[in-house]
Amino acid sequence: MSDEQLQSKEFEAEVSRLLEMMIHSVYSESEVFLRELIANASDACDRLRYMQQTDEELQKLGQDFQVDITLDKDAGTITITDNGTGMSQDDLVEHLGTIARSGTRAFAAMLEEKGESGAAGIGQFGVGFYSAFIVASEVEVLSKAAGKPEVSRWVSDGTSGYRVGPAEGAEFLATHGTRITLQIRENQQEYLDVSRLKQVVKKYAEHIAIPVRLIEVKDGATEVPEEVNAKGALWARNKNEILDKEYADFYRGLTHHFDEPAHIIHYHAEGRMDYSVLLFVPQEAPFDLYNGEREAQVKLHVKKMFITDKAEILPGYLRFVKGLVDCTDLPLNISREMLQNSPQVVALRKAVTNRVLTEMNKIAERMPEQFEKMFEKFGPVLKEGLYEDHERKEDLLELIRFRTTTQEGWRSLKQVKEDMKEGQQKIYYITGRSREEIDASPHLEGFKSRDIEVLILSDPIDDFWVNMVHEFDGTALASVTRAGEELKEVAKNDQAGQPDGDKAADGGAMVPEIKKATLIAAIRQALKDDVADVKLSERLTDSPVCLVSDHGGIDLNLEKILAAQGQSIQAKRILEINPDHPYILGLARRSEEKGFADEIREPARLLHDLARVMDGEAPSRPKEFVKAVTSLLQK
Ligand code: ADP
Ligand code: MG
Repeated sequence: MSDEQLQSKEFEAEVSRLLEMMIHSVYSESEVFLRELIANASDACDRLRYMQQTDEELQKLGQDFQVDITLDKDAGTITITDNGTGMSQDDLVEHLGTIARSGTRAFAAMLEEKGESGAAGIGQFGVGFYSAFIVASEVEVLSKAAGKPEVSRWVSDGTSGYRVGPAEGAEFLATHGTRITLQIRENQQEYLDVSRLKQVVKKYAEHIAIPVRLIEVKDGATEVPEEVNAKGALWARNKNEILDKEYADFYRGLTHHFDEPAHIIHYHAEGRMDYSVLLFVPQEAPFDLYNGEREAQVKLHVKKMFITDKAEILPGYLRFVKGLVDCTDLPLNISREMLQNSPQVVALRKAVTNRVLTEMNKIAERMPEQFEKMFEKFGPVLKEGLYEDHERKEDLLELIRFRTTTQEGWRSLKQVKEDMKEGQQKIYYITGRSREEIDASPHLEGFKSRDIEVLILSDPIDDFWVNMVHEFDGTALASVTRAGEELKEVAKNDQAGQPDGDKAADGGAMVPEIKKATLIAAIRQALKDDVADVKLSERLTDSPVCLVSDHGGIDLNLEKILAAQGQSIQAKRILEINPDHPYILGLARRSEEKGFADEIREPARLLHDLARVMDGEAPSRPKEFVKAVTSLLQK
């Protein structure tokens, strides 16, 4: 490789360290270099096709995309050639001189942690271009950016740096594209064996949409090229003829995930529009499921050619579903604007989204355990649909699963509805930040004592949709903080806890209605600036008091979230008191004996602050609160 014109540059520190580790510790999985280089070649062709949509000059280059892998045993080289975008000299420096992708970084981080022994797992990472050095002692890249005249060369032995510069006169006949030549290492000669090479190329190229050929050079002459992926695009084939393994390989190639697909949705639609759909639900959630792009990235193909992954075929709440749609009825040169407005694309979105939900329903019915596993990973994302997709709210409500206060495992709303107690009119839920916080909530007491199943909503997303979903199948959904009177209609269970107060001293638990009414009036008077009302509670069994929202008011938890964002819209709430609690009983007696006003004021405020504290809020009058508690302690 002649190199007078080349300029020497050093790798970034982390690149050379990574290369070092890769070359010296990984032999067992060395074949991944082909996966990476073929993927890059195919990506480069896809990118050029995309650029051609808006660039007439580039359109002249045509669309006969092709990836060739050439084996020259005598020279000891393997060459990967593509006619994709190609790279200018600046591109070569920028793209091949730095660590580009997250997979490489994740791999480097693992090496950092586990040392060299960890390198055995390299196959799980997308290590990119550098993997070439696992098998090559020297790598030469010749490249010509599409639409530009000059050819550039990049050479490196993968130790400390690389040389880069113009490559005039280089034997590079193509009009554009990239040719990567690997000088195979002594200890990697297996790849110079044509049958071994073919096996690996087949494995990684089989499902690439662009034709990949294997070419052998013998005695300086080129043998007839063999097309390796002649079976054609996987999604266009008949479902019954496709092996699980083929699906899995395809899925990994397409998504750069390294797990197996948990579910596969593959079908051909004919009629007003002809299209094929191949979608996967992954087993594992990607690390950026919640903080990455919200748009689903289902790829759109037209007549097997990749067009874009920005066609928003699926809504954001199905972004965990990966795959592609191939439509025969769209023009190949469809533009971005056309994509947005085309009635065909709109129809495609609708049909594919409906189908995905139908398939999920089937999985839920036929394979509930598998569905729950999926829900475990992706449920919170799916719930976004409840406030986003009004049209499909009902379908989504059927799919969503819940943890509840009385049952183990996941429950559907249908099940919860079927198991409603006699007299129970609504399905209740409780929102909160954690299961622990929820379990300790006084709001649940009246539900526990009646064995009423309450949905536990502890995902952040829950606070948003509950305000838009008011019923399921004709039954109202209501927050426990808004339940009230209607609980009376449900009988308490036998063990329902009466608070173990000193009943004898009270002359029995019963306090006459009249006493309760006086007490309520007294507390109402004392707290008239703090609460909207004071009521007897149907829900409390152990705690003396709790705060609830007014029926029209905003849910407590949402109020807290908004307050945390600085949007205070705190509506006054209702203080409910537990007439069976010993402290309340005592208070009722005193209020009657001594007349109320002053006598009740302090205890009433204390009770109100106590209720706030139980909801995770600060007392409204901290000083008074502390004083009252301290004086209690002294007694
Ligand atoms: P990734 O493919 O994840 O971006 P790589 O290390 O495999 O990471 O490649 C780095 C970059 O080098 C690519 O993003 C691309 O810009 C460029 N590149 C690599 N191979 C080619 C190729 N055959 N043609 C054009 N560009 C390429
Ligand atoms: Mg790559």
